[in-house]
Amino acid sequence: MKNAVYLSLGSNISNREENIVLALTVLQSSGFASIKKISSFYNTSPIGPKQRSFCNIAIKAQTNLNPEKLLLFIKHIEYILGRINTIKWGPRIIDIDILFFGNQVISSSFLTVPHKEIQNRLFVLVPLCEISGNFIHPVLKRKIRNILCEKSLTLKHQKVRITQACNFE
Ligand code: AMP
Repeated sequence: MKNAVYLSLGSNISNREENIVLALTVLQSSGFASIKKISSFYNTSPIGPKQRSFCNIAIKAQTNLNPEKLLLFIKHIEYILGRINTIKWGPRIIDIDILFFGNQVISSSFLTVPHKEIQNRLFVLVPLCEISGNFIHPVLKRKIRNILCEKSLTLKHQKVRITQACNFE
């Protein structure tokens, strides 16, 4: 599988960790992606409306899908896990975002890569830094660890706490 991708997964409904593990199982068993790295699990404060805190992780995978097909596939995983879209930034059983697709820069009506909010979200930057702090953001041209260092002061109201260290080999 030739394309390296980084994904962010989050959940804040029912058993959050179980939902994320199920999404990873579907992804891995699909034959479309091979998971290479999984971050620890983090408890994170919600952005937007008042709601339960989220569980978030970041992963690195190899895929044989192109970016548009990968987006369709992750939407399919969200659907089969039972995601119902309610309000913007509302509660969700599973949310999967494409953070990076190699070094590609994509800007279409339905897909923006790198994900445009990476640098504004500690719940993305912290797990991403854990698995690939030296990855260089292809638009900002800076390492993830340096973006995180710079942003951790201004974003310090966003709470990100490790709950389960990763044991993925
Ligand atoms: P979400 O609420 O996170 O599930 O995303 C809503 C919409 O954002 C999706 O239906 C996508 O069309 C769009 N989108 C744009 N860029 C991305 C990206 N990098 N990863 C995931 N969704 C994206």
